[in-house]
Amino acid sequence: MSVPVGQMIAVVRHVLRERWRGNHRYPLVLMLEPLFRCNLACGGCGKIQHPTEILRSHLTPEQCFQAVDECGAPIVSIPGGEPLLHPQIEQIVAGIVDRKKYLYLCTNALKLEEMLPHFTPSPHLAFSVHLDGPKEEHDQAVCRDGVYDVAVAAIRAARRAGFRVTTNSTLFSDADPIRYRRFFDEVMALGVEGMMISPGYSYAKAPDQEHFLARLRSQSLFARILENAPRRWKFNQSPVFLEFLKGRWDLECRPWGTPTYNLFGWQKPCYLLDEGYATSFAGLMEETNWSGYGRASGNPKCGDCMVHCGYEPAAVEATFGSLAGLLATARLTLFGAPNRPLPPLPEPAHPAPLRVQANGLHALPVLGQTPLPLPILPPIPLENNAASACGRVA
Ligand code: SF4
Ligand code: SF4
Repeated sequence: MSVPVGQMIAVVRHVLRERWRGNHRYPLVLMLEPLFRCNLACGGCGKIQHPTEILRSHLTPEQCFQAVDECGAPIVSIPGGEPLLHPQIEQIVAGIVDRKKYLYLCTNALKLEEMLPHFTPSPHLAFSVHLDGPKEEHDQAVCRDGVYDVAVAAIRAARRAGFRVTTNSTLFSDADPIRYRRFFDEVMALGVEGMMISPGYSYAKAPDQEHFLARLRSQSLFARILENAPRRWKFNQSPVFLEFLKGRWDLECRPWGTPTYNLFGWQKPCYLLDEGYATSFAGLMEETNWSGYGRASGNPKCGDCMVHCGYEPAAVEATFGSLAGLLATARLTLFGAPNRPLPPLPEPAHPAPLRVQANGLHALPVLGQTPLPLPILPPIPLENNAASACGRVA
């Protein structure tokens, strides 16, 4: 695990304080979305299909600070749209860093190099650069050639300027384990602090049997990519979460651990689903029917989800929930996961249906689903997005 000691201490202190108060539902990471606008139009994006007036809007710095203060999470993540398009992003970043929060500013890096002089390096600030895989896979995922090279150049520039840099990668069902293992080596060679990985999320509904196999397939893919991982790979994720991805540790979703605040308010119940909004953080915690979400609930939207926003908090809970969890985490951190033979890659019983998003674009193949060849779609004009729309040919 690769996070600054100060951040680790802040998280441990926060968890212990909440548990001492008898609070078992507490936030760890605020997902702050100050805008949905972006300068890319990735085929698998779930954020840029809002109407034009929403894409033109953004939260004010004061709204952002109020959300940060209300929530109280020790870590703040600013995901996409593209935060560097926000006209007051410097002010937002400075205000959050002043509050001694650990801030991860997620960016596709198209504007990162030119924006670096607007920020000051700090242990409380990290740029989390979106890299969905090796050059070919990444450029295909973001639907524009050359983006990988721009992102790599920006990472190097940010490191030279003394900034903390991490990467975030969403893996899809057509990920080739060997290519991704090489990709992790390349990313670490750039001098990043750590990598964050997550399976793509699918809204597709499927029968129970298919859920089971789909989940197995996801676990098998991650096991192949992460098994016998060299010590030079650093992940800024809990070792328990990585074991969960490999199918070696069972967890249940804890969506309240990563509450989302955006232009509409506090999003219920999680970053992925959009099932209403609360006007305050306290309202979100009280009004949300938490038992209706997570795999155990039987909610089909949650059946195959293994995404970090629901399961990283569960991994933290597993770590601090018992002495066994704490010892297991310490063992994984110090010695890594035990080496095992690579598991076979099961195929789902039925091919997954082709998914078309609300914006008319084909969704990327998602881990757990069999990739299908996608027909060529006619171009669809996307207002406010500079990149052309694309489908992904699996
Ligand atoms: S970079 Fe791609 S995935 Fe991220 S917000 Fe922009 S369009 Fe969406
Ligand atoms: S399992 Fe958790 S994170 Fe995933 S969609 Fe359901 S509530 Fe959201």
